Amino acid sequence: MQPKKGYLLKGRIIDGSLNPPIEQGAVVVHGERIEWVGAAASLPAQYVEQAYEVIDLPGRTIMPGLIDGHTHISFGESRSEEENALYTPVEFRTLKAAYYAKKVLQAGVTSAFDAATTYGIAQAVRDAIDTGMFEGPRFTVSGKQLTNHQGLEDSFPSWMEFPVGQSAVLVKTKEDLIEAIRLQVKDEVDAIKVSGSNDNLITPDALGASAFTLEELRIIADETHRLGKICSTHARSCESARDAALAGFDNIFHASYIDDAGIEACLKNQCVITPTMTLLVNLIGANPAQAGASGTSAFEREVEAASVNLRRAFDAGVPLIAGSESGWSPVPYGQWHAKEMELFVTLLGMTPLQAIHANTLGATRLLKRYGHEVGKVEAGRLADLLVVPGDPSVDIRILQRPKAFDYIFKGGKPIDRTPPAPRVRKWYERTKTFLNGLYVFDEETGTGRLVQ
Ligand SMILES: [Zn+2]
Repeated sequence: MQPKKGYLLKGRIIDGSLNPPIEQGAVVVHGERIEWVGAAASLPAQYVEQAYEVIDLPGRTIMPGLIDGHTHISFGESRSEEENALYTPVEFRTLKAAYYAKKVLQAGVTSAFDAATTYGIAQAVRDAIDTGMFEGPRFTVSGKQLTNHQGLEDSFPSWMEFPVGQSAVLVKTKEDLIEAIRLQVKDEVDAIKVSGSNDNLITPDALGASAFTLEELRIIADETHRLGKICSTHARSCESARDAALAGFDNIFHASYIDDAGIEACLKNQCVITPTMTLLVNLIGANPAQAGASGTSAFEREVEAASVNLRRAFDAGVPLIAGSESGWSPVPYGQWHAKEMELFVTLLGMTPLQAIHANTLGATRLLKRYGHEVGKVEAGRLADLLVVPGDPSVDIRILQRPKAFDYIFKGGKPIDRTPPAPRVRKWYERTKTFLNGLYVFDEETGTGRLVQ
């Protein structure tokens, strides 16, 4: 028997653009790339079925692999800022990141934008995957975020040294901004990320000021662009989102409180927004007495505001990109990557096709690497593809059940779907908490009792 030339996939095609699905479609995969896409009826005779491995399952949809616009592959599902920045040794964090990268890929995420790393772990994981040592998505990575004392990543008190394991570098002067960007670029980041505002997880009701002045943001954007990188910011407050857009940033994370001036600046400077509402919705869903510095009501208020403001931005023409914030304990790896699409539909009123676009072709706006080669079922692009049961353009939640996917292709090959063995936490992955409460003495009974 002749060896097969590649794969011939048949089914409904959602190509990742806003084109309507092709109901009876065919996709030819040759080597690592897509060679032909179209209606099955017009499949050229050269693609004779005998020469290909044919995958033709009833009711299936073929679509691009997901592109998660916001991950932190180095954060290891940390439960606290202390766990993330202080205790776990860098060597162990790095191995964990390689372990988790496979889980992310097995959720159908074939590319991802990493939105800040501790140490240089994200670059190492990206390169280890790209050079074939480990399995995982194709990563485009930010390095450490640039934060000043008002950014969320300067989260430890002023009487201690800025921790070397923090996923940020502390900048104090305008000269520091330039130096920090040049050092990140030397360390081979693809993007510069800024801690542009604070965050309710760090400080309660910290949604007021922008961490950086407009002048400082312009310095950052200009130097980042001069060195050929893209510029992102964590900006929840109105001012921080607006000023980043005015300064010429390429992408704003969150932008929950963006106003019309901010939206206008996004349109003028071609800035996209990656809301990452999954984190907020999961914090509400987990319903802890307190999450970070805030009660769940703070996150409820933010979701409410974001639902209105981001819908307004989308209606005005600002592209929105779907990202999960996977890496923190509220958003474990491999589980929530497709949730943001559902939130885009339910909270922002997008159609499922628009939401899929925001998690595939639309998200390539963030990818410095492979951006023009992934995200769409199109001849010439890399065959990063999903074959899924049902029609996600009708029910977007199908994409949240990756175990039910028939195939996940990366670079023309079906990936290994065997889940990694469950991992046991080491004692040093921790926050130093003695007890989650007070062990009070009851004089009546003469015994102790734990009070939360
Ligand atoms: Zn993040």
